[in-house]
Amino acid sequence: RAKELGGRRVEVFAAHMHADVVRRLELAADLQRALLDNQFAIEYQPVVDLATSRVTAVEALVRWWRGSVFIPPDQFLGAAEATGLIVPLSEWILREACREVAAWRASSWDIGLSLNLSARQITAPHFVETVEQALAESGLPASALTLEVIEEMLVEDAEETISRLSELRSLGVRLAIDDFGTGYASLAFLRQLPVDMIKIDPSFVSGLGRDDTLTLLTRTIVRLGHDLGLIVVAEGIERPEQLELLREMGCTRGQGFLVARPMAARGVDSLMRTSLQSII
Ligand code: C2E
Ligand code: MG
Ligand code: MG
Ligand code: MG
Repeated sequence: RAKELGGRRVEVFAAHMHADVVRRLELAADLQRALLDNQFAIEYQPVVDLATSRVTAVEALVRWWRGSVFIPPDQFLGAAEATGLIVPLSEWILREACREVAAWRASSWDIGLSLNLSARQITAPHFVETVEQALAESGLPASALTLEVIEEMLVEDAEETISRLSELRSLGVRLAIDDFGTGYASLAFLRQLPVDMIKIDPSFVSGLGRDDTLTLLTRTIVRLGHDLGLIVVAEGIERPEQLELLREMGCTRGQGFLVARPMAARGVDSLMRTSLQSII
């Protein structure tokens, strides 16, 4: 009887795995089609300077509308990375976002662009040249581009990643550590990295004013970042109290639904025209 139950469990498990594999294969095929059919779009989330409330940059965030169904990045980026489709997808985002931000800058709006990088994209052949080309084609100055990576990409066997990013940095491109505080980069290691900016993870920012430990940790990260000469960006600002505390801590920049939600390019267009770029 025990054997029978065990056997059934194995069968159930196998069926479950099978469904999982099929789903993943379907997702991979869908992604490929989506890329050919131009189903991807870019939204831009404004980042403000907390001292002046002005928009200093926008972060490009990929969007996938499969028909009328929205699929969040967290649900397809893994598959895109695994299949390698992340490379052409990221190249498209890079070119398109550089072009759009260069156009806003041409209307004498001094904003920068932040882009999220994937591990596979950085180690793909010609990554550095691809970025240089996108800058040259769009006319976006290297200093207006910030590339965001997460700590995991910079620790463990990350020599190639760090050397490519350093190469870009020597061209004037800025580098940011995204989701800062959630990974394993030690402070000593951080000091050696060719980094200009840290983005404090929302898991810290969410507790501001509500949780003493998270408030203290946020304050410590802001101070640490400044002591290392870095720009410090707080992510996931949703409540006025968080904004107030971050300003009081002297955090450089802020981003979050309270400041502005990610928006399509024409949203940024009207932001530029109507609100004089000062939105909070
Ligand atoms: P991320 O780079 O940390 O981006 C911030 C995420 O937080 C975005 O989610 C944004 O919509 C969301 N967000 C911003 N403000 C708030 C807020 O106040 N509250 C809450 N709850 N969320 C907020 P999104 O667009 O779903 O992207 C998720 C992640 O997917 C990104 O995290 C990034 O790691 C990745 N990603 C997005 N676009 C790209 C891309 O073009 N290329 C690559 N490689 N990764 C991307
Ligand atoms: Mg990011
Ligand atoms: Mg983040
Ligand atoms: Mg993230």
